[in-house]
Amino acid sequence: MDFTLNEEQKMLQAMVRDFAEKKLAPVADKIEQAEEFPMGHFKALAEIGMTGYGIPAEYGGSGGDNVGFVVALEEIARACASTCDIVDAHLSLGTEPIYIYGTEEQRRKYVVPLAKGEKIGSFAITEPNAGSDVSAIETTAVKDGNDYILNGTKVFMTLGDVSDIGVVFANIPSLGKRGMTAFIVEAGMHGFTRGKKYSKLGMRAATNADFIFEDCRIPAANRLGEEGQGMKICLSTLDHGRLGIASQCIGITRAVLEKSAEYAKQRVQFGQPIANNQAIQWMIADMAAGLEAARLLLWKAAFLADKHEKFTVAAAMAKLMASELCMQASIKGVQIHGGYGYMMDSPMQRYMRDAKLTEIYEGTSEVQRMIISREWLK
Ligand SMILES: Cc1cc2nc3c(=O)[nH]c(=O)nc-3n(C[C@H](O)[C@H](O)[C@H](O)COP(=O)(O)OP(=O)(O)OC[C@H]3O[C@@H](n4cnc5c(N)ncnc54)[C@H](O)[C@@H]3O)c2cc1C
Repeated sequence: MDFTLNEEQKMLQAMVRDFAEKKLAPVADKIEQAEEFPMGHFKALAEIGMTGYGIPAEYGGSGGDNVGFVVALEEIARACASTCDIVDAHLSLGTEPIYIYGTEEQRRKYVVPLAKGEKIGSFAITEPNAGSDVSAIETTAVKDGNDYILNGTKVFMTLGDVSDIGVVFANIPSLGKRGMTAFIVEAGMHGFTRGKKYSKLGMRAATNADFIFEDCRIPAANRLGEEGQGMKICLSTLDHGRLGIASQCIGITRAVLEKSAEYAKQRVQFGQPIANNQAIQWMIADMAAGLEAARLLLWKAAFLADKHEKFTVAAAMAKLMASELCMQASIKGVQIHGGYGYMMDSPMQRYMRDAKLTEIYEGTSEVQRMIISREWLK
């Protein structure tokens, strides 16, 4: 067993850390307060290959493996979780399924500009009546000649307000319960509009909006995969996406731990640094031990993905443990910083607000527990 990164992964880690510390961290609070998609960040991510990480060069990407992906995303999230969320939504959810399930023509037409960062991707499964239960989607796709006619509403799409290309799921009614099918929808297609834009508690620079389909005509050439293959595409995409969310949690937790340890050593109360109190030491110890454990789970899941082995449960475990760690650590981080941690000019409150989302999207903690327990109770 070898827990060390290879030379390529170490170089990537160092390069992304440098990028994140210089470009992302200094403006992390500013961009999240603005609650606007940071196009400048997206273009900068494209320049360092992060909009197409894992996608081969012939399709506009920069190559790389899943372990490299999680290592890089940890560095981005440590500096700015919103930016990490943007990479995950654009790349893992909006680009990779087209690369994996798309035809050669779809790869050339959509994956190339997405991977190069010329276009922004998104992923749309959630609906007003279908959240954790993705099989409950009500959006329909009815075949009409060489087209499909889509009708329905999708809610909460990350990057939904700015994305150019969306992977959208709908049911083909004639196929009954097995009708879920994926489609590639382009902004500007007739009958497709963006709905409400949301204001959120955290991750505010990774913007969200609804999608509305009213007799939206999609050419059959834009169907992704086969009719009825939608559930498989959706679930396998979320497996990959969860590696990204777990990385996000590891990055936030590391930022909390580093800043809390530093603060505890310099903040003096009762004539000594607060770090001298066992109550503070235990909070730091719990964060550090949890961070190590969650990162190992994540690296294992990424390693399995790289070996093309089944990693659904490993990814669910990594996401569950990392997100709950991140939430608890960020609450403790605010506590260690006392009143200063509660003020909006401290990043501690941002970590806490960002952390909460990681327990909700791409499958809530309860859904991760369902995935994990199913393995043991089958
Ligand atoms: C900021 C943000 C960004 C998002 N981005 C996207 C995106 O890009 N694309 C996309 O398609 N979706 C996106 N989503 C949707 C997200 O994936 C869902 O919100 C999430 O899956 C939960 O669904 P829900 O909100 O409908 O909650 P519900 O499914 O209604 O759940 C409500 C509560 O009930 C619990 N619950 C539900 N079923 C069970 C059960 N069987 N057992 C125990 N507990 C249960 C849940 O865990 C939760 O605590 C985003 C959401 C947010 C908040």
